[in-house]
Parts: sequence; C-alpha cells; structure tokens
Amino acid sequence: MVTWNEFVHAADERQIDQLYSKAHIAVKIVDMYNPRILDNIAVIANLASGAYGVYNSGENKKVLPKDVETNLVYYGRIDRRNLDNIPKKTLSQYYPQAANQIKQADTVHVNVRRIMQEMGSDFDAVIEIASTIIHEATHELERETMGTTSEVGPVNAERHFKQWVNQNHQMLAGRFPELQGDVIGPAGTLPPGRV
Ligand SMILES: [Zn+2]
Repeated sequence: MVTWNEFVHAADERQIDQLYSKAHIAVKIVDMYNPRILDNIAVIANLASGAYGVYNSGENKKVLPKDVETNLVYYGRIDRRNLDNIPKKTLSQYYPQAANQIKQADTVHVNVRRIMQEMGSDFDAVIEIASTIIHEATHELERETMGTTSEVGPVNAERHFKQWVNQNHQMLAGRFPELQGDVIGPAGTLPPGRV
C-alpha cells in the first residue's frame, strides 16, 4: 500500500499502466532517482505516435488558492486559461507574492508502445520509459523556472539518469524482480507489434 504522502503526490499514470503492466516500475525508479523531479507533474499520459515523449506547455495547469486566482485574473487582467500557460518565472516577476502559492499540475506524454517495440527487454523498456519521463519533466521544469527550454538540459538529464542506472543496475534488479521475465523483446511472450 502506498503512504498517504505518496498517494497525494503521485502523478496520474493510469494511461501508461494500462498499456504496459511494468510501466509503474519506471515511475518508481524516477522517484527513487530524484524524488522532486515529478513535483510539477500531475499526469503521465500516453503518446499514441511519433517521438518517445512530448511535453506541451499548452497542457499546463496551475493550481492556486481561489483568492490568489481572482486577484491575478482581476488585477493582472489575465484570462484564466492564459494563467495556466504563463511560466511561473514570469508570474513571479510581476506577482512575487503569488508565486509561492502556485502549484503546477502539468502533463508529460510517453510513447509506451513505441518504446516497448524498440527495446529488447523489459529492463531496457522500463529504463527508457523512465528516461523519457525525466526528459519531458526537465523540459517542464526549465520552462517554469527559466521561461524557456531547449534540448540541452533534457538530454543531459537523460544521460545522468542512465549513468546512475548503470551504476545501480544490480540494486534495481534486486529491488524490482518483475524486471526479469521479459514480456517484450526477442525473449518475450508478446508477439512483436502487438504490445
Ligand atoms: Zn526534448
């Protein structure tokens, strides 16, 4: 059973869990690697085609106390929907008193099927899903804290994560025995293309 704290902070990952019974391990590994990296992420959704992952700031949501929201919309002359999309950095420049009361509830997407098809084992697929979540969450974090994002930070974040995985391979395999017994890849039980 998850703790209350884990429950209220957990991102909604139902979409990826439905597609792959081991996807939840990827989220656990991300949390283990960096317990703060998903602080702004409310939803880890599937991506049906294209790249391994996507972060689109157009899906950003902000959670803020009603009075702060009313003040921002009224005095800031901001449309409520635009408020979701304004980077936290910009908001804190103009409304420093509101900034620390605003929480992000943003979405990242992972192309779970593509990763399952292209990886050779459950271990590799789970790590690639985790790495993609880290990549997209880094885009989100950069945009919120710096106002813009590029590929540099997310690619570096993935590289550091994979180094950590290499150094902790045995610990991860021991902690998550489900990573053995492949359902995907050449040794797997799922027919190719039907995952
Ligand atoms: Zn990227």
